[in-house]
Amino acid sequence: MTPAVHIKNQTYIEPAIRTIAGGFIVACGVLIYLQPQWSWLWLSILFFVGFNLFQSGLTKFCMMEKLLKKLHFRSELDEIRNLSQANAEAEARAAFYDTLGLLNEVVIELSRNGTIAFLSDHWLKLLGSDHRSNAHFLGLPFLAFINKQDRSTLEKLLDTLLQGDRDTMSMRFRLMRDDQDEHWVEGKFALYRKLGQVEGIRGVLRDVTETHMQEKRISHMATHDALTSLPNRIYLDDRIHEEIELSRIRGSQFALLFIDLDNFKQINDLHGHKSGDRLLREVSDILRSNLRATDVLARWGGDEFVVLLPFSQNADIPRQIAGELMQKLRMNLERTYSDAFVTLSIGIAVYPEDADNGEALLVQADKALFYAKSQGRNNIQMFRDLQSSATGYEDVDMTSRFVAAVKQGVLQVYYQPVMDARDHSNIVGVEALARWHDDKYGWVSPANFIPLAENLGLINEVGRQVLEHALDHFSQCSGLCSDLKLAVNVSKRQLMSADFYPMLLAMVGRYGMKPRQIKLEITESIALQGIEQARGYLQKLSDAGFTLSLDDFGTGFSSLSHVHELPFDEIKIDISFVRRIKTPEGRVLVKTIVDMGHAMQLALVAEGVEDQETAGILLDMGVEMLQGYHFSQPMSKEDCAGFIEQLRAPLPAPRAAVS
Ligand code: C2E
Ligand code: CA
Ligand code: CA
Repeated sequence: MTPAVHIKNQTYIEPAIRTIAGGFIVACGVLIYLQPQWSWLWLSILFFVGFNLFQSGLTKFCMMEKLLKKLHFRSELDEIRNLSQANAEAEARAAFYDTLGLLNEVVIELSRNGTIAFLSDHWLKLLGSDHRSNAHFLGLPFLAFINKQDRSTLEKLLDTLLQGDRDTMSMRFRLMRDDQDEHWVEGKFALYRKLGQVEGIRGVLRDVTETHMQEKRISHMATHDALTSLPNRIYLDDRIHEEIELSRIRGSQFALLFIDLDNFKQINDLHGHKSGDRLLREVSDILRSNLRATDVLARWGGDEFVVLLPFSQNADIPRQIAGELMQKLRMNLERTYSDAFVTLSIGIAVYPEDADNGEALLVQADKALFYAKSQGRNNIQMFRDLQSSATGYEDVDMTSRFVAAVKQGVLQVYYQPVMDARDHSNIVGVEALARWHDDKYGWVSPANFIPLAENLGLINEVGRQVLEHALDHFSQCSGLCSDLKLAVNVSKRQLMSADFYPMLLAMVGRYGMKPRQIKLEITESIALQGIEQARGYLQKLSDAGFTLSLDDFGTGFSSLSHVHELPFDEIKIDISFVRRIKTPEGRVLVKTIVDMGHAMQLALVAEGVEDQETAGILLDMGVEMLQGYHFSQPMSKEDCAGFIEQLRAPLPAPRAAVS
């Protein structure tokens, strides 16, 4: 405790009482003196006590700080007090610095010119410095220890602070360290003033490297694909928006390339999912290494990728780069996946030509991709070209509507009767034919949408839906249809897919039907797959009890000898031959097919029979079953049920009443 503090804490009361009491006693002494009859002894005692009290009270009173000040006394007392105050401050400061040294943060003071005026102990650790003391750093510019990439931003922020625009500010920046490690620091800075004057900046620096890296990892996970480490849709969306802003400012353009692997499903089916994953990684590596650092390659999902490609004047550049990517991919993957040719289909849309916002641009690129796929894959299409050819644009539009229809499951199934050639009132089966009605395009022919489904890789799904509807309808008319055969068309791709056979068996069982009630119409292009493989697929189905019909016979590429090697039960003579049956050559052709079929002990069906004369000729040649508009067009399940009912009614009813 210092004297100054002691004095400050005293009150006026005690010295005042002493002074007044002393004064009173002295005054009594004087009175006694004036009365000589009082004894000298009393006088002396009173005077002595009174004087002492007065003197001690007065002295104490005089020592009071305020009074001294009032009397303008500058005494040693002031000096003592000042000295002790300075000592106390120094002690407190030293204790404060010791405490700062315990913190994991660095407390820093910068002078107005940015040099270091004070640093707490943790600085050496933060900087990874070998120096023993902070003293080495005092007077050095603080910015010299900041990573070059962050230096100018921090400098600007410190300047705004010094100019008094803000009182505090914080920023995350990297320190320059000898070990070259990325070391992140969060700095909080505030101005400090003395007597109203700006002295400099005080700050606290905290090591946030671990937090920063963690945040970076989390944000990387949120914006990147785990399998390929490529940016995902979220990241791509952001980059597209940024690129649109940049292009607006610079008046430049960029392209979006929508890329799809053509045969990915095949690789997955043939080699398993692990190989599929490896292929996706290989493809992303090849694509990435053939793009510039400024291009963005993102995984859109599944086997789809998107490239954001800024480019200058030459409008052909996106197509050229797309071509190069295709070529590089083929060269690199040819050896590894020799049994499944990996190719790309690419659709391209350009900003601002094809759309003025990111979402629309992606849609246009996707439409161009659809069109590229429908053109037989391994193909590049620019949205611009689709628009200039109306049919192309319509194709793309129709394609996307078709995809939506398949996804929504709105395809329908119609049925066309197959008649006994000898007795036209005897129906022997029906063929299920897919139908698609679109609000915009009306009825679209399966001759158009079936190849589309094949190219889009949707044929399995279309086939599954048709089969499901057909089995459902057929099982509902069991009494009426029990002796009829339900024919369904199976495309080559569908037949070859690994899940077709189990799916077919399961579904037939689910609807309580037997394989012998089902006829599978397969075109002869199946033989192109290689006879051995084709036989493998077909034999399993034949063994299970399904009837196998060789559809569109004569239009394919296989030779007759090939047909002999495959386990077909029936040949369906194609409509193109039936149409020519009234010409001598046509008649010879059909007769040859029929004879050959009989020689191979196959049943014969003719499709496209449009009149009685044709039906007669075919019967004469020995064709057993006939199908065509002469008997009926394909019809809805209700109409078909009516048709069958009418044929089988005990009393014949007029046709008009039914149709
Ligand atoms: P397809 O299997 O040869 O079917 C017979 C086609 O000939 C049907 O055409 C049918 O409507 C038509 N047709 C029948 N009789 C006559 C006739 O007397 N005159 C004429 N001009 N045409 C007749 P649609 O329904 O347009 O089917 C075309 C092709 O689409 C089918 O040819 C078949 O290859 C394919 N298809 C239809 N539905 C499916 C299906 O569910 N799956 C698969 N994979 N393909 C299907
Ligand atoms: Ca057919
Ligand atoms: Ca046919």
